[in-house]
Amino acid sequence: MSVVGLDIDVVRKPIKYLHLSVYPPEGRVRVSVPVHVDDEAVRLAVISRLPWIRRKQAAFRAQARQSRRELVSGEAHYYLGRRYRLEVRETRGRQSVRLRGAGYLTMNVRPGSTIESRERLLHAWYRSALVELVPPLLDTWAPVIGVSPDFWAIKRMRTRWGTCNPTARRIWLNLELAKKPPECLEYVLVHELTHLLEASHNERFKALMDGFMPAWRTVRATLNAAPLAHEAWEC
Ligand SMILES: [Zn+2]
Repeated sequence: MSVVGLDIDVVRKPIKYLHLSVYPPEGRVRVSVPVHVDDEAVRLAVISRLPWIRRKQAAFRAQARQSRRELVSGEAHYYLGRRYRLEVRETRGRQSVRLRGAGYLTMNVRPGSTIESRERLLHAWYRSALVELVPPLLDTWAPVIGVSPDFWAIKRMRTRWGTCNPTARRIWLNLELAKKPPECLEYVLVHELTHLLEASHNERFKALMDGFMPAWRTVRATLNAAPLAHEAWEC
């Protein structure tokens, strides 16, 4: 059904009252309608709640804008816990990413590059930063904890900062850690290495962490202070 240019999903159900909802991310409107209620009554109900629907839709759009980066000059981006102003320059030469002066993150990209290709370039840069930062940390911590993984790698994960498979002795670290202060990467690595000694987050695990890194709870709070896509990330 269309009401004043708004597409409405109408679902007839054996319910008592008409119920209207607006869903993210696009602000889709859905009306659950008692079986006996006719279309004209639905139309009137939608019109009477139009200001509320528009408000909800605007809020969803604002939310989407905030979380989505377009990788254009002027945007704020983070690297190792510091904020940089993105500067996108077009080049016919090699594409690259580098830190420039005080607080600039410069990307040299092909003319007319898409958001996706700029994103790939930036992710590759973040990845190479982590690939350089992790080995010295492993050299430091493996002797302290007395274990080392058989395999570690970086990947993008939606809800976890790191994961460990103690049986396969495999550790994955979230690419997003490149945006966080360096102690966060160190904490997640120590956390995952500790899982090679203790698989679950039990008292033994916490006691081990307290021994290795007494301030781990503070670092964890920093890590979760400004989550990028989720409210409470885990390790
Ligand atoms: Zn864990």
